Amino acid sequence: AARLKQGLTKTRQQFTKQIASLFGGGQIDEDLYEELETVLLTSDMGVEATTSLLKNVRDKVTLRDLKDPAALKGELKDALCELIQPLEQPLNVSTHHPFVIMMVGVNGAGKTTSIGKLTHYFQSQGKSVLLAAGDTFRAAAREQLLAWGDRNNVTVIAQDGGDPAAVAFDAIHAAKARGIDVVLVDTAGRLPTQLHLMEEIKKVKRVVTKAEPTAPHEILLVLDANTGQNAVQQVKAFDDALDLSGLILTKLDGTAKGGVIAAIAKVRPVPLRFIGVGEGLDDLRPFIANDFVNALFD
Ligand code: GDP
Repeated sequence: AARLKQGLTKTRQQFTKQIASLFGGGQIDEDLYEELETVLLTSDMGVEATTSLLKNVRDKVTLRDLKDPAALKGELKDALCELIQPLEQPLNVSTHHPFVIMMVGVNGAGKTTSIGKLTHYFQSQGKSVLLAAGDTFRAAAREQLLAWGDRNNVTVIAQDGGDPAAVAFDAIHAAKARGIDVVLVDTAGRLPTQLHLMEEIKKVKRVVTKAEPTAPHEILLVLDANTGQNAVQQVKAFDDALDLSGLILTKLDGTAKGGVIAAIAKVRPVPLRFIGVGEGLDDLRPFIANDFVNALFD
């Protein structure tokens, strides 16, 4: 919990301090609600989530006839918890064997780094992992994955240049032959507006299903928390194209925009499987709504 709090330092500085000053004294009036609205918006919760949280809090204040701003803080905390709770659905990879995960996202979101952290996470649960170097656009991405696999004793299936769908296909066959537990398929970074690249990723998905009819078992969109409201647009666009099953929100440690989680919960509630709170291998954590809210408020 201390590590999470530390990881959320910037969001906390923005949010927690403002909240504290807001609820420190005075009375519950329209000015207070307006200030609260500003705090929620500046922490990147977005208009929809902010409106819904404010309404929820106002209703409670009326219902319970609250007068003390300190009580309002408790109501806000509960309302936020209620809003983001549906995103808490930890990933269970025991349901299929091999369990095939496709990683998608825009360039620089933290896909490759997250693959490293996820591998470490699954290995620490005693599971074997195989990687597919499906980013065939950037030779450097393939090299990075191969080097990482070397250092950590993880097999990486790669091809010179070539077709990302073919790499994924080979990787799934190799995983079946070797009895591997989890396959992580890297893919090239792409913007949802790059239609040909979106067609390409849909093809990767179809070919994965050819290699293993129940797969992909998970399609994870990796998002950079720094992109704030733009992250919400990415969730919508990638979800429309691929039917996402989960999200990874990276770089929460470097941003004051942690409120984007509330925006995602309101606008497109795709399960938030993991949050990245630092560069270390251990800094990818399953998302626990209560822990997140507690770290923000205490
Ligand atoms: P990709 O293009 O999506 O594969 O992105 P990379 O995995 O190469 O990551 C881009 C940069 O973000 C690298 O410098 C990573 O170290 C950094 N990064 C990724 N996740 C996190 C995180 O949770 N916290 C921090 N501070 N940096 C991260």
